[in-house]
Amino acid sequence: MSTVIYPSPIFGPVHSRRLGVSLGINLLPADGKVCSFDCIYCECGFNADNRAHNPLPTREEVHLALESKLIEMKAVGPIPDVLTFAGNGEPTCHPSFPEIIDDTLALRDEYFPNAKVSVLSNSTFIHRPAVFAALAKIDNNILKLDTVDEDYIHLLDRPGSNYSVSNIISQLKAFKGNCIIQTMFLKGKYEGRDMDNTSDKYVLPWIEAVKNIAPRQVMIYTIDRETPDHDLQKASPEELDRIVSQLAKEHIVATASY
Ligand code: SF4
Repeated sequence: MSTVIYPSPIFGPVHSRRLGVSLGINLLPADGKVCSFDCIYCECGFNADNRAHNPLPTREEVHLALESKLIEMKAVGPIPDVLTFAGNGEPTCHPSFPEIIDDTLALRDEYFPNAKVSVLSNSTFIHRPAVFAALAKIDNNILKLDTVDEDYIHLLDRPGSNYSVSNIISQLKAFKGNCIIQTMFLKGKYEGRDMDNTSDKYVLPWIEAVKNIAPRQVMIYTIDRETPDHDLQKASPEELDRIVSQLAKEHIVATASY
């Protein structure tokens, strides 16, 4: 098992634990990773080990490749449950992300009107009005909030120095419930530091932030593939279930992927 770099701009379909039959749309280059985070659990590896050299796919290239794949799937299957923006980094960093969302919604309506459009994002570009507006249009606006602990997030997700948890929470709240929060729980060590975020020390303040954001759903998950840091471990099903129960007590709909 090793870290994975996805084809671009279309990959799959794959069977996703959380989303069903998912056709992947990767707005990053095929030869490496582009992300505003550098998570120590990233299935694409560390940024420094997997830098992309090719340009981002253009809006036209994404449109052509997506339409061609949807025509093929219409002819031979499978029927997609979801068209998912994911892949080698952060999709919302693409300068044409809002226009590509409009193209994708139009193609979805034409070929598979029952399919959902999902975006997996790390939330770092939602301060851009056009990105915010695009995310507000889709079916599953899945936004990462791994922790509200400023020190821990700089160890786990490794954003730039101007990242502010409180600003991100305010911006998430502005979706007025039209978002899904996704959060990684894990254990193990990174550079000798204990990375376990399943304890109340991390979970309780995060639940307060989730209550404040009031998303329509929360998805919690744990490591599924090899991670670039090899001392990390999965959170157990019992630990994830306990966090789901804590959310349920606050009347927050949540699911766990083990
Ligand atoms: S935000 Fe996603 S793509 Fe970016 S480093 Fe983290 S896990 Fe990888």
